[in-house]
Amino acid sequence: MKDGISEKKLAENQVFFRGLNAKVREGIENIKQVADEDGSKADLIDENTVFEFHCECSHNHCLNRIKISLADYEAIHKDNASFTITPGHNIPEVEDVTFTCPAYCVVTKHKEPPKKVTTVHPIDQ
Ligand SMILES: [Zn+2]
Repeated sequence: MKDGISEKKLAENQVFFRGLNAKVREGIENIKQVADEDGSKADLIDENTVFEFHCECSHNHCLNRIKISLADYEAIHKDNASFTITPGHNIPEVEDVTFTCPAYCVVTKHKEPPKKVTTVHPIDQ
């Protein structure tokens, strides 16, 4: 465990970054809606289109992006305890790596994380 940082705070940081990714998903939906209204460009974005999402690791200084398709991202996040992170950004004390590929890893928290968080906790690295 990181010095002075609780497992709960680490999980809250991850939930915060997942919240940012929810905004990315909203943006994608808005683009699709505008394209549909135009009636021409809707086919440019489908579930296999790869987007850059925020790394959902616990480190508050991490600004990495992960390239992942919308379909894969949404399938992984059906489980509230699963997060997509940059390979190597996992913290074994609080989570298990359940999938890995060159672009990203999926980690599952040992404990159920909070549903929503609005702040990031500073963590010295
Ligand atoms: Zn990270």
